[in-house]
Amino acid sequence: MNVHDSERIAGSLDAAGYLPAAPGTDPDLIVFNTCAVRENADNKLYGHLSFLAPAKKLRPDMQIAIGGCLAQKDQGLILMKAPYVDVVFGTHNMGSLPALLERARVEKRAQIEIKESLEHFPSTLPARRHSPFSAWVSISVGCNNTCTFCIVPALRGREKDRSADEILSEIRALVADGVIEITLLGQNVNAYGVDFGDRRAFAKLLRACGQIEGLERVRFMSPHPRDFTDDVIDAMAETKNVMPHLHMPLQSGSDQILAAMRRSYRVDRYRSIISKVRNAIPQASITTDVIVGFPGESEADFQATLDICSEVGFLAAYSFKYSKRPGTPAAEMENQIPGQIVAERYERLHEHLNQISKRDNCQLLGKGVEVLITDIDGRSASGKSRDFRLVHFAAPDEARSGDFAELTIKEAQAHFLIGDSQSVNIRPTRGGDAFSARKSEAESNGVMLGMPTLKSVHPR
Ligand code: SF4
Repeated sequence: MNVHDSERIAGSLDAAGYLPAAPGTDPDLIVFNTCAVRENADNKLYGHLSFLAPAKKLRPDMQIAIGGCLAQKDQGLILMKAPYVDVVFGTHNMGSLPALLERARVEKRAQIEIKESLEHFPSTLPARRHSPFSAWVSISVGCNNTCTFCIVPALRGREKDRSADEILSEIRALVADGVIEITLLGQNVNAYGVDFGDRRAFAKLLRACGQIEGLERVRFMSPHPRDFTDDVIDAMAETKNVMPHLHMPLQSGSDQILAAMRRSYRVDRYRSIISKVRNAIPQASITTDVIVGFPGESEADFQATLDICSEVGFLAAYSFKYSKRPGTPAAEMENQIPGQIVAERYERLHEHLNQISKRDNCQLLGKGVEVLITDIDGRSASGKSRDFRLVHFAAPDEARSGDFAELTIKEAQAHFLIGDSQSVNIRPTRGGDAFSARKSEAESNGVMLGMPTLKSVHPR
């Protein structure tokens, strides 16, 4: 969600006449789009800001703006900790950034603007997309759930859904622009439609994506086990361009912990969804999110998480140590788990998941896969298979990012597969054409290709 918001922030700045700073030059503006979901993200922002303090002293006209969830949460605190910041803007008013920067310049004082509810749906703002062939499309923002560990509803507000017409016309425009893969985004995509009273809206949306000529791959994130309905599984199975991959957050394998997390489903429900998905789409891969060390987690609860991970056989799991977020109910719970135990369980889970992922990847040995190429460096290429596996291979000269490669897998590791270079067949796509066009444009005007990052703007 934040990556997509960054594209909107960059797009709004583009529209206001800003250009990306070329590598090695001093930028006139640095924007941080922040995350607040884990404590580490807070610490990182303040670390980056102190790193920038000397640069700001040397070049006082350089502006620094902080947006995103941490800005929404900390508001004035950011200026107390880093008084040289020029603009603080929230998650609901990303499009105001150019006006706030201008006002800060004219009035020569910092501007803070945090709105409590959404001003414009982010997708209505212009975007500078990171990839010319793959795009995010948000279908909803906010969340109506109340998971006790999560700060998102407090910062992103209640769920707001976009109309299907608006979403589909954005997708058609993206496809006309060379995009061949989209990822539908929402905090809880299965609740899509709650705003306008249609429980089947998400499945209908997937089927409607299947009708879009030229759209090769459709993905979505994140679903929620509570709202996941059979019609979504049918739509996934019956819509050719919806990829056979499901990222379904589990969080814990213990019913007691799920209850304490207020996750509103139990392990049996999770298990039954996975088994229905596997029946309907046998080739589907399943990935997940797991939190380790939630308050009250006993060794038996943790073991239950290890067990369900083995049972499901996740291709990958994003595992996180529980991070106490002030203002959330879990932060007030008395039975917090000592850091040392959390760290030890995290290591065990990590090791366990690696074995499961490797086993899952090994099933592909000797099989043919279709890879959407996302990166090429010399002859080394990487991309994602239809079921979301990372594949590396040696690419022939004609390969471009955005093209498809058909190849046979010759080696499997926990986190990636290696393709047999003798087997590679390149299928050029409009995505590859879009990539080539963007590359030559970037080369001719000296503007770098992707999104600016702290590394690429090189503040001194
Ligand atoms: S479903 Fe739960 S974890 Fe996900 S955004 Fe909503 S409150 Fe947070």
